[in-house]
Amino acid sequence: MHELPVISSILKIVLKHANDHNVKQVVAVHLQVGELSDLEDKWMQQYFDHLSKGGIAEGARLVIERTPVVMKCTDCGHTYVADLKNNEKLKCPECASEKNTLISGREYFIKNLEAI
Ligand SMILES: [Zn+2]
Repeated sequence: MHELPVISSILKIVLKHANDHNVKQVVAVHLQVGELSDLEDKWMQQYFDHLSKGGIAEGARLVIERTPVVMKCTDCGHTYVADLKNNEKLKCPECASEKNTLISGREYFIKNLEAI
């Protein structure tokens, strides 16, 4: 149920933006969510529907786009997109090192709002 606090903070930002721009109704919220994030689309929408009830974001659709996981090799400094399905150990494609740091993949942010 980790979606709840995430959605709660997303909704806060959405409402603040909507207020700043005199929006009457938020129609859709475009989100970018890292592939490594375990947020599930289905739950995100359900929590959003629940939390946004009675406000100007009620009924808004979440449009969720997954962004790839990017790693940086600790040994050679190469930055690469990790293929989580085919490369479980996430080896560096340049030097095959298994030492790496995560650059992105767990984050989420609001990309765009559709409103009237
Ligand atoms: Zn490397």
